[in-house]
Amino acid sequence: GGHVRFEDVRFSYDPDREILKGISFDVPAGRTVAIVGPSGAGKSTLSRLLFRFYDVNAGRISIDGQDLREVSQESLRAAIGMVPQDTVLFNDTLAYNIRYGRPQASEEDVQSAAELAQIDGFVRRTPKGYATEVGERGLKLSGGEKQRVAIARTILKNPPILILDEATSALDSHTEREIQDALERVSRGRTTLVIAHRLSTVVGADEIIVLEQGRIAERGTHAALMLRH
Ligand code: ADP
Ligand code: ADP
Repeated sequence: GGHVRFEDVRFSYDPDREILKGISFDVPAGRTVAIVGPSGAGKSTLSRLLFRFYDVNAGRISIDGQDLREVSQESLRAAIGMVPQDTVLFNDTLAYNIRYGRPQASEEDVQSAAELAQIDGFVRRTPKGYATEVGERGLKLSGGEKQRVAIARTILKNPPILILDEATSALDSHTEREIQDALERVSRGRTTLVIAHRLSTVVGADEIIVLEQGRIAERGTHAALMLRH
């Protein structure tokens, strides 16, 4: 399962300014759709609506045909995993932060999630060390490392639906490639909505939707969009 459908979705934070002006698209179960477009176009707003941080003003969002408004908050949180662009970590060990994805998980599962996200080295080495350091100085992790913690957490949580919010911050190109690879591994077989800032990072998406000022300006595969430009 996990077919996500947006049907003529309209939304505004303030009554006098419509942010999404009739958005329709499908993410079939297990597929990947990427939303690209300039800052302020409404990309993050789409993901907030899917999480039901807000409700649509008109139109409908559904998962496997069920209106989001009829899905309990609990099952929605269980069904959707999110790797945000800026992960806020709890003031605790990395292992704790990963386990937050599924508190009952075994030590082995936490470890293998960390391996898939390529942070197993430091989880194993210094969980206690981190705890002490956190107390005094806070977690000293780079943006790329924090994103990998979020990826490991999501792997552990194992949701059928994923929202990936690609980092805008400057990661070096080697780290960026590693993160891309890890994101690709975690999205395989899951219904995935990627919020992206550049066409170049979403080559493998089944469909790319270009959002401009709350409207779909263009849509198609990466190859088709590249041909038109
Ligand atoms: P994107 O992710 O494409 O950069 P957003 O979805 O974050 O765009 O924002 C779309 C528009 O909605 C922007 O004009 C932004 O200023 C506005 N916006 C975002 N969040 C809020 C909010 N909480 N209250 C009012 N306006 C908001
Ligand atoms: P729980 O119900 O277990 O406390 P949350 O509702 O805090 O879980 O979060 C559920 C999922 O949503 C987690 O994967 C978390 O990373 C993500 N999430 C929660 N709040 C936000 C947010 N404001 N922006 C992006 N992702 C979020």
